[in-house]
Amino acid sequence: MATPPNPPFWRLVPGMHRLIGLKCKRCDKVNFPPRKRMICADCGGTEFDKVRIGKRGRVLTYVIAMRMPPGMVGPAAFAIIDTDDGARISAWSTDCIPEKYGVEEGTPIKCDMPVELVIRVIGKHEPTPYYGFKFRPIML
Ligand SMILES: [Zn+2]
Repeated sequence: MATPPNPPFWRLVPGMHRLIGLKCKRCDKVNFPPRKRMICADCGGTEFDKVRIGKRGRVLTYVIAMRMPPGMVGPAAFAIIDTDDGARISAWSTDCIPEKYGVEEGTPIKCDMPVELVIRVIGKHEPTPYYGFKFRPIML
C-alpha cells in the first residue's frame, strides 16, 4: 500500500478547509460531494454554482461501528448529517457515542442532535495520519 501524503499536503487541498457543494440552478438544492458529471439529486438538473457549505447541521441518522477500518480507532458513530444550508454529508463522529458502548467521554449521539463539522485525524497509514471532516455535538 502506498504511503499517503503528509499532513501539510492535506492542508493545501481546498476541500479540506471548507466544504464545497454544487447548488442547483434549477431548484437550489445543494448537492454534495461535487462531481465532474453531476446530476441534481432532487430535480435532475445539470447546471450548478459552487457554494461553500456551512459546518453546522443535525444528525439525520447514524450507526455505531464496533469494528473499524484499518488505521482507525473505535467504536465510533458514522452519521448522515443534514447541514443547515441543505447539503447532506456523511462523516465519522468525534466526542459523541452512546455510553453503553463503553466510552465514557463525550455526549451520547441522538438523531436530530445539533452538530458541527471539524477537521480531525481520521486514521493512520503508519506512520502518517490522514485528515478529514468529523462531526461533534454543539452544546446549546
Ligand atoms: Zn435541482
